[in-house]
Amino acid sequence: MDPMNPVTSGRTGLPRERSRAAMSRPARQSSLREHNLSLVLRHIVDSPTRTTRARVSEATGLTKATVSELVDLLVTAKLVTELEPEPGERVGRPGVPLIPAARTFVGLGLEVQADHIAARAVDLQGTTLYERVTVGDFRLSDPGDTLRQLARLVTPMVATITSQGSRIAGACVSVPGLARLGSSVVRYAPNLGWEDVDVALVLRSSAALQGISIEVGNDADLGALGESRTRSRLAGVSRMDQNFLYIAGEVGIGGAVVLSGDLAGGMHGWSGEIGHAVVDPDGPMCNCGARGCLEQFAGKDALLRRAGLPLTYSTEELRAVALGGNLEALAALNDAAGALGRTTAAAMNLVDVDRLILGGAYAVLHDLLRPGIEAELSTRVMARRWIPLHVEGAVSGEMASLTGAALRVIDGVVAHPTPWVA
Ligand SMILES: [Zn+2]
Repeated sequence: MDPMNPVTSGRTGLPRERSRAAMSRPARQSSLREHNLSLVLRHIVDSPTRTTRARVSEATGLTKATVSELVDLLVTAKLVTELEPEPGERVGRPGVPLIPAARTFVGLGLEVQADHIAARAVDLQGTTLYERVTVGDFRLSDPGDTLRQLARLVTPMVATITSQGSRIAGACVSVPGLARLGSSVVRYAPNLGWEDVDVALVLRSSAALQGISIEVGNDADLGALGESRTRSRLAGVSRMDQNFLYIAGEVGIGGAVVLSGDLAGGMHGWSGEIGHAVVDPDGPMCNCGARGCLEQFAGKDALLRRAGLPLTYSTEELRAVALGGNLEALAALNDAAGALGRTTAAAMNLVDVDRLILGGAYAVLHDLLRPGIEAELSTRVMARRWIPLHVEGAVSGEMASLTGAALRVIDGVVAHPTPWVA
């Protein structure tokens, strides 16, 4: 059986609308092989439990023989690992459990935020292998200086990964601003003070990052992506069943909409800028040039200022102060929750989702913010009378965007495994 031939897509083995297209046979075969390899690898990577060749065959509709040959290729390429056979569910040979390979391929998630820079290396299993964070003030920073500092942060990590024989599949840089996934340019990051910065160009001037493919992405988009994948894996919920509005509180506030497991990025990949929804047209000036934006009421700096705390305080410290009964901190959180509830109600009415996930710094504060947000949603979201609305803290933790950036690279390997198999 030729592993390039699927059994599910008709007599010619091509999707019907493309079967008469003017593709040459070798091109057609290589794209089918890529498609089928990706299909099999996707199933193994996304499977919440150990899977087997038989289960991959059932789930993908490919024949057992085809799956077997494709799995052999993935095992040889160290993308998939076979475990010791376990007793079979049926009569006959026991199934060989298949899992994504550990520590062989690594996605580098990098991040620049107003108050820290960070790097995290994640493998095909989604396990964090290495992580480094430097806390600092990167508000209105020089992009060259900041990115060179980020390169220095990640250099020892790259050296360790390569000395251990792992392959770096690429890097994705999370930034709080307009940055389209797949490009290398940050168009506008108001809190960093960056405009039209080619991040890959600067990072590649570091010897450690030369030859590594580098893309940028918006922090909330990547946080939502990380959250979606983490939820699928932890709860065994299929990717297709992931639908939610995600808001991430940092110094700025980002948002993202996930529909059927995919980011709804908008025409230019810039959707989700809920942090600049207007709360009070006469409110404080925002770094974006407008007045009274949500992040001036509910962003991390705004929360700390309103609570009378230093801007160097972490979210955990703010939480501890509020739980200690500090009235100013509680009032700051209450006001922020109200503003968040009113703006997210508008977004939920607009895009029709019933789940709001609080990410970034809000993941740490979600139980304190939730009552105030729910009070607004319960009076403002039209669908509330017919469907239950859910407000939940992110399960992927405070630095979900960093995980999401690394998983974006891993996603790329899974979507296009051929270069790594070859
Ligand atoms: Zn603004």
